[in-house]
Amino acid sequence: MSNDYSFDSSRRKFIYNVGLTAISIPVLSSFVKSSKFDEDSSRMRISKEKAAGKLGIALVGLGSYAGGQLAPALQSTAHCYLAGIVTGTPDKAEKWKAQYGIPAANIYDYKSFDNIKNNPDIDIIYVVLPNSMHAEYVIRAAHAGKHVICEKPMAITVSDCDKMIAACKKAGKMLSVGYRLHFEPYNLEMARLGTEKVFGAVKKMDGKFGFPAEAGIWRLNKELAGGGPLMDVGIYCIQASCYTAGADPIAVTAKEGPKTDPVKFKDVEESLTWQLEMPGGVIADGKASYSEGMNRFRAEAEKGWFELNPAFNYSGQKGFTSNAKMDFPRVNQQERQMDAFAQSVKSKTPSIVPGEMGRRDVKILQAIYEAMRTGKKVTI
Ligand code: NDP
Repeated sequence: MSNDYSFDSSRRKFIYNVGLTAISIPVLSSFVKSSKFDEDSSRMRISKEKAAGKLGIALVGLGSYAGGQLAPALQSTAHCYLAGIVTGTPDKAEKWKAQYGIPAANIYDYKSFDNIKNNPDIDIIYVVLPNSMHAEYVIRAAHAGKHVICEKPMAITVSDCDKMIAACKKAGKMLSVGYRLHFEPYNLEMARLGTEKVFGAVKKMDGKFGFPAEAGIWRLNKELAGGGPLMDVGIYCIQASCYTAGADPIAVTAKEGPKTDPVKFKDVEESLTWQLEMPGGVIADGKASYSEGMNRFRAEAEKGWFELNPAFNYSGQKGFTSNAKMDFPRVNQQERQMDAFAQSVKSKTPSIVPGEMGRRDVKILQAIYEAMRTGKKVTI
């Protein structure tokens, strides 16, 4: 795995209750230390951002992705800004408050989260929690009357996705999934080459994504993760297959890889290979692993091929075609993704990565697991 797709080095142990029960601690804003000077300057920052017409985002779950990628990206976004945080860890609340100038009133824990409905600074809630918690917090965000971005995978079951979509629709709020690669030039080029048939029709695709996972992390806990590397990184290969082909799969076969460490991987697969059948007989092979470093996607077409290696990084993609090397600027994917959503909200135009796309992918993930379990081809 590439270095820039790294996960929380602290590798928190399960200090929370497993499942959807939120921890019970007092409202953080009531005991976050704060001088009047800090508060005044934080409020001034918020006023300035609002005056610039930006939408306020609250990040929920201050782990590796929120801290390493999203909060830094929100320092350079043009249409949105970091207005609030939701965390179960008081130390993080203190640290983020000081680092990013967040007023005490914009800091929540999982219990006080619903009070966010009364906070006019927060327009968008971005759920960056372990996978099985996405549904609960997206639905609560919708009930609070906020627009929502939800990290991938959108949920661990299709019925959860349905509830999330319905809650946002009912609230009249937009729902988007954190599919950052739809805003990344190399992956966009793969989609263009495939859908515009630049090398003729795509015949075959092959995606691989994996990294060695540390023991004890929530990603290895089925209740929190919903599955293993397929849920976490395999989803990128599925996404790439769909946007490169410009189509959704119709059937799938899959096979679990061997478990080299049955204790570490007692809950989830260590690796998994699958074969998606796309319309027109196009085949998309995939592999996801928690023991092998892999990060590539390749498409073979009638008159040539095109490939990214690495394909799914936060930055540093390399792309080649049978004719030439790709050459695109490096961009901040998270900045683009969040700005695009903020613009969608402002202009009331649909997100290009909506909840419905997240649902489609969860359906595919579930079909792959069913094919793996049964050894049979599963129609999607
Ligand atoms: P982390 O483990 O680093 O962070 C998750 C955070 O969730 C924790 O730090 C904690 O924050 C909070 N949390 C609440 N309850 C629990 C619990 N029971 N167990 C563990 N954490 C809990 O995970 P990541 O940031 O890597 O991943 C979060 C989500 O983001 C996942 O859905 C993942 O798939 C997605 N992701 C997406 C990426 C992308 O490129 N789009 C990249 C990486 C992750 P606190 O202490 O503040 O309460």
